[in-house]
Amino acid sequence: MPAVTVDNILVLPRLPRPESDARQRPVVSVVSADRQREGAGFEVRRPFPSLGLRAADPFVLLDQMGPVAYEPYEAKGAPWHPHRGFETVTYMLDGTMVHHDSNGGGGTISEGDTQWMTAGSGILHDELPAEELVVSGGLFHGVQLWVNLPRALKMTPPRYQDLRASELTLVSSHDGGALVRVIAGELGGFTGPGSTYTPISYAHASLSPGARLETLWPQEFSALAYVLSGSGHAGDRPVREGQLAVFGHGEAITVTADDHQDTPTGDLEILLLGGRPIREPVVQYGPFVMNSRAEIIEAMEDFEAGRMGHVPAEHLTGRRLGE
Ligand code: MN
Repeated sequence: MPAVTVDNILVLPRLPRPESDARQRPVVSVVSADRQREGAGFEVRRPFPSLGLRAADPFVLLDQMGPVAYEPYEAKGAPWHPHRGFETVTYMLDGTMVHHDSNGGGGTISEGDTQWMTAGSGILHDELPAEELVVSGGLFHGVQLWVNLPRALKMTPPRYQDLRASELTLVSSHDGGALVRVIAGELGGFTGPGSTYTPISYAHASLSPGARLETLWPQEFSALAYVLSGSGHAGDRPVREGQLAVFGHGEAITVTADDHQDTPTGDLEILLLGGRPIREPVVQYGPFVMNSRAEIIEAMEDFEAGRMGHVPAEHLTGRRLGE
């Protein structure tokens, strides 16, 4: 089962239904995710960045990893690489991911867990499926979101937040038909455990067939809905697996699930995300997200010179899992 589930969602607190005169945010575009390879060669679906999608500000990138049923020794990860200038937020739905960094830190995240890494001034890390998953094969499904940092915080010291599945704030839609897991920020008066330098709201919702998820959404925030699996409508636009809906201005957002869902869970699985736009120039080059080309060159020089840290000695020898 993906992420966190509950036996009876009707016992959960309910999101307040927006007043009937609340201005619905219309969907202004629907973008289909590209498929591409990342790290040591695993496939991701990437709805953004894409040309002209400034609507995603303060987000830089969204990667859906899987869902995939790996055969033994097929699972791959992303071996040692640097980051600077933003935060990575990795949320697992199925399977287990292990990570190590150049400060000697690391962690393991499984279904429903989130790892929040502020790369800030720079860090090296690797991100790999758990050894047991590599050896035995198995289901793997996760999402990595990149949240930008404003100019003033790009060089902040690296930090982590490990959010366990049990810490997620669970609520239901007003009709009791959708389970909503608030990961970060605020949704309809309920707050998730993640805290960000850049204010965002981030939630994973499972809508049963025919369910309607309607909620107020901060007016100053961007608003996006990404379909992990299933089909339905965002506002009045049809959306299906691998598509991202971009909402325009207004006070409330609405997503509905089609009456039939041909998905592993039987539900429409979506991410709701948005944040306060940073509105600064964004220059991304691979794992660095800065404000100017000069800062990208500086990042590459700092990485080459070892100023973002070094791969810990115990990771320098032997075969790397996932390679
Ligand atoms: Mn990374």
